[in-house]
Amino acid sequence: MTDPPLILYIEDNPDNQWVVQTILEECGYNVVIAEDGPKGIALANALQPLLILVDLNLPGLDGYEIATYLRSMEHLKDSPIVALTADVSPETRERSLAAGCDGYLSKPIDPQQLPEQIAAFVAGKRESVSPAVEIAMLRTHNQKVVGRLEQQVRELMRVNAELQEMDYLKEQFLALISHELRTPLTSLLGYLDLFGRGTLGSLNELQKEAVAVMQRNMDALSRQLNNLLYLQEYRTHPPMFTPVSLISLARHICAKMQAKAIHSGVHLRVQTDEVATIQADPMALELVLMNLLDNAIKFTPPGGQVLLLIREEPARVVIQVEDTGIGIPAEALEKIFLPFYRVDNSLASPQRGSGIGLALVRHLVEAHRGQVMVQSILNQGSIFSIVLPRHPEIRERE
Ligand code: ADP
Repeated sequence: MTDPPLILYIEDNPDNQWVVQTILEECGYNVVIAEDGPKGIALANALQPLLILVDLNLPGLDGYEIATYLRSMEHLKDSPIVALTADVSPETRERSLAAGCDGYLSKPIDPQQLPEQIAAFVAGKRESVSPAVEIAMLRTHNQKVVGRLEQQVRELMRVNAELQEMDYLKEQFLALISHELRTPLTSLLGYLDLFGRGTLGSLNELQKEAVAVMQRNMDALSRQLNNLLYLQEYRTHPPMFTPVSLISLARHICAKMQAKAIHSGVHLRVQTDEVATIQADPMALELVLMNLLDNAIKFTPPGGQVLLLIREEPARVVIQVEDTGIGIPAEALEKIFLPFYRVDNSLASPQRGSGIGLALVRHLVEAHRGQVMVQSILNQGSIFSIVLPRHPEIRERE
């Protein structure tokens, strides 16, 4: 059995949609409805309609503009485009034909006549206007289209300027709150450290545990704040390259993260080659490693493993953070590097985060002319790999 011939009807009025669909489907056609121009164009592109009916008075792209666009599609050159409108002035008919329609039917639709009228167009009927009228109508049509285009461009420019202004205000606000929070937080962290060391008097076990909880939470808050601050800063300032010993940096960071790993019941290990120094921004590299390790520990259930691995290759260094955690679904692997993006499975977990860590990681690694990649299997674990050129400034001059 062959499929029924297809008619595309571009119309925003549900009553008209229903009438035309009912009448034509009774005659054996399959009527596909599009409520507006862009949807109509997309459907016409995807399908091969036998005939297209278009309402002229549509919001957004109007029927004339739609007809002009559809007429330019090579695969529709044999499909008649028929205008349907309540406006029966001669000008409307001529304008619609000049714009690209092959015929013109007036509303209200006559249920008795519609099947015959459609059959006539399907059989080859084409209406036309004299060349002189067509030129005059096309001129009006073009002027109208260009006028609308100019209006849209002006509107886009206005919205764009507004967006830029809002973006600037947002940046200012973020910079302000991060700096405002930074100062009291530094003092709180300092005092907690003094309490923790017993410098301000000895603590009983319960008090020690309470201070440890506060320190962990302060560390998490401080990391999020640092991310925010550096996201602002590194967007405008290039990294400051100096020789960095990756081994010392890796050991220093792992020592910093050890308390969190122990508290989470995760086994954290470092494995490194004897890597010579590389040219890098030490603050930036520290942020990169801290964020990757923080995530690896955060998204690995108790009993799991996290490994920081550093491997040397002739012109580059490879840093890997491997975990045996919850993993990342394949469709999210690219999106996790977007600012503020968090995967659903991690939202459900009690672990907090802001979704800016990996955006910052990618930004910093790329500022070092390196690359960051991720491989992951759900419920088995993830591997984040960073490849850094040993001398990024030499590659720049090449
Ligand atoms: P945050 O950790 O603050 O939410 P990130 O930008 O660092 O933000 O990470 C974005 C998201 O990527 C996380 O919320 C999480 O869904 C996912 N993700 C990152 N690292 C891992 C990992 N090692 N294992 C599982 N999911 C991860």
